[in-house]
Amino acid sequence: MVDENSKPHPQIKGAKIINEKVNFPISWLNQQGYCEYSIFLEYVEGIQTAPTPEMKKGHEVHQQLEEKFKEEAVPATFKEMMDLSQKEEILSRELWVVSPKYGVRGFIDEIWLTPDEFVIIDDKPGTVAYYSTINQVFGYCLAFKDTIENDGRKIRAALRERGTDNIFWSTEFDQKAEKQIKKLLKRMHDLFNGEKSFLPTKNPRKCAKCRFRSYCEYYNE
Ligand code: SF4
Repeated sequence: MVDENSKPHPQIKGAKIINEKVNFPISWLNQQGYCEYSIFLEYVEGIQTAPTPEMKKGHEVHQQLEEKFKEEAVPATFKEMMDLSQKEEILSRELWVVSPKYGVRGFIDEIWLTPDEFVIIDDKPGTVAYYSTINQVFGYCLAFKDTIENDGRKIRAALRERGTDNIFWSTEFDQKAEKQIKKLLKRMHDLFNGEKSFLPTKNPRKCAKCRFRSYCEYYNE
């Protein structure tokens, strides 16, 4: 059981130690693509900032979708969902996945379980598939793959415009994608284990919008 071997990380806020390995939220992969140093400021230094308007809006839309889903949802165990989906398509929201092996965990916004494939959807504001958002959804795919017994069904990663049905990007979670995300997870673990340094972004436009800029030694006005 994962929980029996889980404890908070002593230095990194929000991280855990699960089965003696650092385990962090998959959403941090998105933040890594924006600026690694902001992860250091927020979770290692413990700096707190007020949520941005985008964060508040995201939370609001998320709640609305969740409420709508609950009105029609039929509760089922993970095993029941996996079995049923071999015959018919089903949908789940906020599916919790944890991978002690890869040291990540998180909630998948939405997943379609079909007889042929699993489609893992992450909701995002806007319609641009950034490197960081792709990495985040690949992180969910890898954790999901590590959770299930391989029954031959493929996994597809998808990004959807928040609050709409618009899937604006999708790709199969193939070997190349898996290699890409495993490489990034290795880097993340090297950062948390102190083997690599958190790098600041070189993009001044990111700094100009950053909620940590007043705390950051790399920020230039
Ligand atoms: S101000 Fe710039 S370098 Fe500093 S944390 Fe924010 S984005 Fe990163």
